[in-house]
Amino acid sequence: MATITTAATTNGSGLRTLHHWVAGSDRESSGGRFSDVTNPATGEVTARLALASEADVEAAVAAAKSAFPGWRDTSLARRTQIVFRFRELLNARAGELAELITAEHGKVLSDARGEVARGQEVVEFACGIAHLVKGGFTENASTKVDVSSIRQPLGPVAIISPFNFPAMVPMWFFPIAIAAGNTVVLKPSEKVPSAALWLARLWTEAGLPDGVFNVLNGDKVAVDGLLTHPDIKSVSFVGSTPIARYVYETGTAHGKRVQALGGAKNHMVVLPDADLDLAADQAINAGFGSAGERCMAISAVVAVGEIADDLVDRIAKRAVSLRTGDGRRSCDMGPLVTAAARDRVAGYVDAGEAEGATLVVDGRGITADADGEGYFVGPTLFDNVTTDMSIYTDEIFGPVLSVLRVATYDDALELINANPYGNGTAIFTNDGGAARRFQNEVEVGMVGVNVPVPVPMAYYSFGGWKNSLFGDTHAHGTEGVHFFTRGKVVTSRWLDPSHGGINLGFPQNV
Ligand code: NAD
Repeated sequence: MATITTAATTNGSGLRTLHHWVAGSDRESSGGRFSDVTNPATGEVTARLALASEADVEAAVAAAKSAFPGWRDTSLARRTQIVFRFRELLNARAGELAELITAEHGKVLSDARGEVARGQEVVEFACGIAHLVKGGFTENASTKVDVSSIRQPLGPVAIISPFNFPAMVPMWFFPIAIAAGNTVVLKPSEKVPSAALWLARLWTEAGLPDGVFNVLNGDKVAVDGLLTHPDIKSVSFVGSTPIARYVYETGTAHGKRVQALGGAKNHMVVLPDADLDLAADQAINAGFGSAGERCMAISAVVAVGEIADDLVDRIAKRAVSLRTGDGRRSCDMGPLVTAAARDRVAGYVDAGEAEGATLVVDGRGITADADGEGYFVGPTLFDNVTTDMSIYTDEIFGPVLSVLRVATYDDALELINANPYGNGTAIFTNDGGAARRFQNEVEVGMVGVNVPVPVPMAYYSFGGWKNSLFGDTHAHGTEGVHFFTRGKVVTSRWLDPSHGGINLGFPQNV
């Protein structure tokens, strides 16, 4: 099977230029603006990315608009076959996509494979679209009058994704959007564009008609163009909270259906009766996996009662044993995505120390297993963190785990519920009653019981509460199907069309 090439052209120095993907082929950018794409493990610039102009936005939306009527009217049987073929191709080439992700994001290969697998699950869910968009029918709602409900696609929809899941987050949305009959303009993060372009080519190979799936690369110009364009009917956004809020407010002000998933600060409560080895292992996995660059990463461990010293000791021993380096070298943890991200995270470690937290493991200045000038911060652990410190109030989005000590379960619950974010949380305990109380009382959208990263399966829906999501619809699952379709109800009378003559009263059912 041939490898998919994501490069469109190379410049004089041999550097690839990545363009947009519009109506089934590369579209060179018209604005003359570019940004660098780097390998974060080495610091090497690996490509330059064309940043969309307003004319590029126009072209991508026009392609999606013109493809819509044909795709909407393509039979469910045929649409489903294409999604199935996409699934088969993706299964066969998942490793290729994972390598692309590691090369631009930096996460270790096994983690990139996991990301692809979670995206594949949504593709599999979308293969069942025929069942998911079935309507209802009522015979004789009134005498010889029947009523049916149908769900129809919206039209051209926009997806705007963050850097930290270049394949999985777009796949939370586009398999369902496409299967339901919409056409898509995907605006990936400018830091990690290749996965989206690779997926676009895979769709073409699967037989998707040109213009149904388009990729628009770029920055704020592209995002603003999509948010205000009258032909874009909905926006699915994932990213940081300030931009999510902006996207929600701007998109809805322009009449669009918007789901905007934002940032997070996820807590893991460890009760005194918990298995502390299990809790320490999972704190490490959830705190340092993907170098903490996950919206479901645990960043605050809340130790309840007298176990805190023991728990901190067990986490610290594990943290120092992790190998940090190039994701292609079987390390445990890779780099941060950019030099700016590394400096920001290191700045928070400086601040935590200055604010009086106990720095138990210091990841600054770590020697990583990598060549070149990668953007590394090693696993970092703070103890005695309090809720007024910036390492607690801010989303660090790096490999920094903070331990907060509280006396009781109620203190832990109060602390979590007072936090402005509400994406994910977990409780570690052997007490079923305590776990039952927690899942009932905690104000967070996704809850784990002895599971640190409770990402819902594709057939449930993914979404946080409070500042972690703007809008009322979560991603994928039946909520995703609902988001990408709108309802229509048809009332019809065929037999005996007599209506009893002229009657200006409101119709009553008889
Ligand atoms: P980001 O908000 O910087 O960027 C997200 C998208 O918005 C990108 O496509 C980017 O090009 C665009 N963008 C950035 N600045 C913009 C601006 N001023 N105007 C318009 N568009 C703009 O986020 P990121 O750094 O790429 O991703 C990390 C963030 O995403 C973290 O906060 C993380 O918690 C969050 N995230 C949340 C979830 C979730 O499900 N809630 C999932 C993954 C990531």
